[in-house]
Amino acid sequence: MVRKRPLNSKEGQAQDVVEILDSKCLAVGEMKAKVDLTKYIEEHYFQFDNVFEHDQDNKQIYEQCVLPLVVETFKGAKTTCFAYGQTGSGKTFTMMGPTDGSHPGLYLLAAYDVIDLLNSYTDLELNVSFFEIYCGKLQDLLNNREVVHCREDHKQQVNIVNLTEKRCHTVEDIMNALSKGMLLRAQGTTGANAESSRSHAILTMSLMHYGKLYSKMSFIDLAGSERGADTMHTDK
Ligand code: ADP
Repeated sequence: MVRKRPLNSKEGQAQDVVEILDSKCLAVGEMKAKVDLTKYIEEHYFQFDNVFEHDQDNKQIYEQCVLPLVVETFKGAKTTCFAYGQTGSGKTFTMMGPTDGSHPGLYLLAAYDVIDLLNSYTDLELNVSFFEIYCGKLQDLLNNREVVHCREDHKQQVNIVNLTEKRCHTVEDIMNALSKGMLLRAQGTTGANAESSRSHAILTMSLMHYGKLYSKMSFIDLAGSERGADTMHTDK
């Protein structure tokens, strides 16, 4: 799915080159010059499962992209929601929502529905973990950025050893865990959110059935896609 964001104040005079044609197709205009130097725009068309206009809000995106995943998670599926794009393209705005809290992001919107659904199950409990991958290290955002290690067990399952799992009963519990982690993420940041845009943040909501993992849903706010070094190597 692709989301178009509005031009920001720095781009005010720039030309908008992305046109949404319908709910699945967009066109990107590329400025070109003919041999006689007259300028023209070449349109490139791209198809996606869903394309969202710049004025569509997080809630509309949530309902079409994430709500179906929440429902599947309660049926036992392991689901993941990624945000991918270069720094400044709107990943954090989409996943977390703006800092003034005016448009809750996908994390929070999912939290409301997860808690809502959880209340109708007596045998499921919710654990939340939040960590980041920064410079090849895993840091626990619910435990003061303690470094944790990723290990494979004899069943070839990847486990993050000693990662804090917080039992959550209400949306406030999830919000507290989230803001605690976000605060840690923001700390030590110099310049224009340099640090957070170089780390991947992963929030996992695990549904537990009598102490055993039943299913889980992961939300990943990826580092800016211009960080080619990390995105090219699949092993990272
Ligand atoms: P990223 O996490 O990809 O680096 P941000 O989420 O920080 O990007 O977005 C960059 C800026 O653009 C922020 O100031 C954000 O508020 C703004 N922005 C992003 N997406 C939207 C949107 N859909 N509507 C309005 N403002 C947006």
